[in-house]
This record gives sequence, structure tokens and C-alpha cells, in this order.
Amino acid sequence: MARGPRRASRSQAREEALAAASAVRVPARCDVAVIGGGASGLAAAVAAAEAGASVTVLERAVECGRTILATGNGRCNLMNAALRGPAPAWGRYNEPAFVAAVCGPGFGDDALAFLEDCGIAWAEEEGGRLYPLSRQASSVREALLARARRAGAVLAPAREVTGATPGADGWHVAYGGAGGSSGPAADSLVARSVVLAAGGGEGLTRSLRLACAPYEPVLCSLACTPADGRLDLGALDGRRAHVVARLLRSGAEVAREAGEALFRPYGLSGIAIFDLSRFALPGDVIALDLMCGMDRDRGRRLVAAAGGSATGVLDPVIAAALGGADGAGVLELARDLRFVVSGPAEPERAQVTRGGLLVSQFDPATLAARELPGLFACGEALDVDAACGGFNLAWAWKSGLVAGRAAWGAACGGTDRTSA
Ligand SMILES: Cc1cc2nc3c(=O)[nH]c(=O)nc-3n(C[C@H](O)[C@H](O)[C@H](O)COP(=O)(O)OP(=O)(O)OC[C@H]3O[C@@H](n4cnc5c(N)ncnc54)[C@H](O)[C@@H]3O)c2cc1C
Repeated sequence: MARGPRRASRSQAREEALAAASAVRVPARCDVAVIGGGASGLAAAVAAAEAGASVTVLERAVECGRTILATGNGRCNLMNAALRGPAPAWGRYNEPAFVAAVCGPGFGDDALAFLEDCGIAWAEEEGGRLYPLSRQASSVREALLARARRAGAVLAPAREVTGATPGADGWHVAYGGAGGSSGPAADSLVARSVVLAAGGGEGLTRSLRLACAPYEPVLCSLACTPADGRLDLGALDGRRAHVVARLLRSGAEVAREAGEALFRPYGLSGIAIFDLSRFALPGDVIALDLMCGMDRDRGRRLVAAAGGSATGVLDPVIAAALGGADGAGVLELARDLRFVVSGPAEPERAQVTRGGLLVSQFDPATLAARELPGLFACGEALDVDAACGGFNLAWAWKSGLVAGRAAWGAACGGTDRTSA
């Protein structure tokens, strides 16, 4: 009974969004076409439009900026403080030299200045994670959409780009109308420059004949089995613990993260596991220290003070699953709890896609494709990914700004309204 009205209001909201999308008039020509109205595409649109370009953003979904709403569990971890100052944490990226060359030493401060100029206040939490002060991803999305519109960008959702081809008069960008008969019609436009900001996914990148690293989900949960066959993961489903997690390959440590682990019946999830998933291969071992390095004597004293129980130190449900009565034995197990990785789990819920356009094909100063004049790329469309903590969105903002600005320069020949 309760589901009916909710479903009705959801489909009504979709119909309204499609009607609003259909009402958007897409010009036949523009200076800069941005393919994808997510985090990096909106940043690119703002940069190009504020510099003076006529900009059209073609977005597949029924609204622009929807991907932002899901970030940070709806709170949007929009940046990381480790990227501020003169020595940003380039090592958090898979392509540190390229990211450094694109973003420069002012990386984090530039990204924050961009967000502040959108009117977004932010606050810092554990691990340098920066969130909007409202702790609402919708604040970030609304502020970006409003700034892009103020700058004059045409935001055209429900238009899925099906191809982009260079021609004598510019790039011919074809799009299909999403939403069937109630959505906008298929059409095409001609743009002097194109910014590819369509996130992870192969469709468009393949048709451009640029070299791509294969796409695969990263920052995701891991399917694994306890090395100690007696541990019942089902009994731990949903329990969280603060851990130091190590990824081991043939006994040697490959990576280490401190943070939250979440036990699931199929294996492990949580931020510390997401971060290790970037490096994990089937057969690797994850070793969790639930004591986070607590001194053994202190552990023994605490167990003794609790009458032999470990429940003052560990979640009682986890302590019970590890053996219950023998508190000292439980703590010893909790120091080095091992799991054998079989592969990614729930890949459709991964935060980031690894792979994408090989960065060697792009000039880091402008993010222009070296062999395809007038084409620029940013965000996850490029083969750049990073650890959890706001690093991926930071790249989306900054790379979008660089690509958008350069796309304006290529299209408009450098008459800059903003610095005039
Ligand atoms: C659940 C979840 C939580 C996350 N949380 C965080 C976080 O808290 N902090 C963080 O730093 N990172 C987070 N990330 C990662 C972050 O969202 C991405 O790195 C970032 O959004 C990438 O920006 P982008 O513009 O490249 O791609 P996207 O934001 O994915 O935008 C791409 C857009 O292109 C559109 N598109 C795709 N194909 C086409 C086409 N053919 N035609 C037209 N449009 C098209 C898509 O619909 C989409 O709107 C999270 C990701 C997920 C999935």
C-alpha cells in the first residue's frame, strides 16, 4: 500500500523532468559542447561560459548533476585537505605525474576557490575529508547548476550523445532523445570545441578511436572468504569496525589503509576496503587489525578488568563471532583477522571506474587530445582514479576547469571576458 504513492510520485517527477528537458532549446551551433553534465562537465561548462564561450551541455540523464547526489552517501565528500598547500598529495592518484602537470601546485586551493565562488561553504572531517557545511550533496549540485546557468550555459538533459566526429566546420555531435516519446527528439549540433566529460564507460571513447585502458570498477566492496573457515561472515553482516587493513600478496604488504571496515555475508566493504580494492587481485589476502595496534599488555589488562571478556574493547557481536568466552584469545584473533580475496563485489555500486582514455594522448596543460584538434577530456573519462576521501571529485572539478577554459580558448581564439 505504502509503495504505490511513492512510485507514482517518482514517475511523476520523471515526467516533469522530461517535460522540462524537452522545453530546453538546443542551439544548432555553439562554441563549446560539453558531453556529460556531471561533476567535471559542469565545472568545464562554468569555465568556458564565464570566459565568454557559448556552451551547450548534453546530458544523458533526465537532469544534470545527478551523479553528485549519490556522492559521500548523499553528503558529497567534495575535496580533501591533503590536496591544499604547495605540496598536494599526488600519490593518492594512479597517474601522479600527469595529475600534477594538469593541476599544478595550487590544486586543492583552486578547487576550493571554485566551490567557494559557487557559494558553497565547506567543513573538514576526519582524514581531511571536506564536505559542504550543509552536509547535503544537493547543495553542491544546486550551486553548480545555478552558476552554470548564470554564466549562460545551455543545460540540455535527456540527450544521450551517440557520436562526435570532426568536420571542416567543427565537431558534429549527434544525440538521441532519452525518455521515449515524452522526451526530447534526437538531433545534432556543430561545436567548435568538444569537452568529453561523460565519466567512465566505453561507448563514446571507442568511437573516437583513442586508446583506452580497459574499464573496471574500483573503490568497491571485495568478495572474500575468511582464512579461518570457522568464522561465520553471515553472523557479522552489517557490523562495522575501525581497523588497520593490510593487503598482502605472497606474504608481502602491497597497501595499507586505516579506516572503517564493514562486514558483509559475501566479504568486506567500508572505506578502508574500498581503498584497498584499487590494488587487490584474486588470491590476495586482507589482514584486519581490529585493535588498531593496541599494546598487548593494555589489551590483557582491559580484558582482565572486564572479568575475562573482550566486549569492552570490541563490538560484542564481533567478539562473540571470534570465540566469545576467551577474551584474551579473541583479542589475539582480532589483531590479525585474515580474508582471501576472490574479486570485486557489487561492482555496479563501485564509486569509481578505473580505465579510460590513456593520459599520454592528452596535453596536460590544456587536456586537449594531441591528435584530434578541438577535443578535450576531463574527469573520469580519462584514465585517472584515486583513493576515497574527496580526491576523485577534486580531480573532476580541477580537470573540468582546465579543459573548459582551454576549450573556450580553442573555440574563441582567446578573447577573455573574465580578465578583460
Ligand atoms: C556512489 C558514489 C559515491 C561517490 N562518492 C564520492 C565522494 O564522496 N567523493 C569523491 O571524491 N568521489 C566520489 N565518487 C566518485 C565521483 O562521483 C566521480 O569521480 C566523479 O563524479 C567523476 O566526475 P565525472 O564528471 O567524470 O563523471 P560523472 O560525475 O559520472 O558525470 C558523467 C556524466 O556524463 C553523463 N553521460 C555519460 N554518457 C553520456 C553520453 N553518451 N551522452 C551524454 N551524457 C552522458 C552521465 O549521465 C553523467 O551525468 C563517488 C561515486 C559514486 C558512484
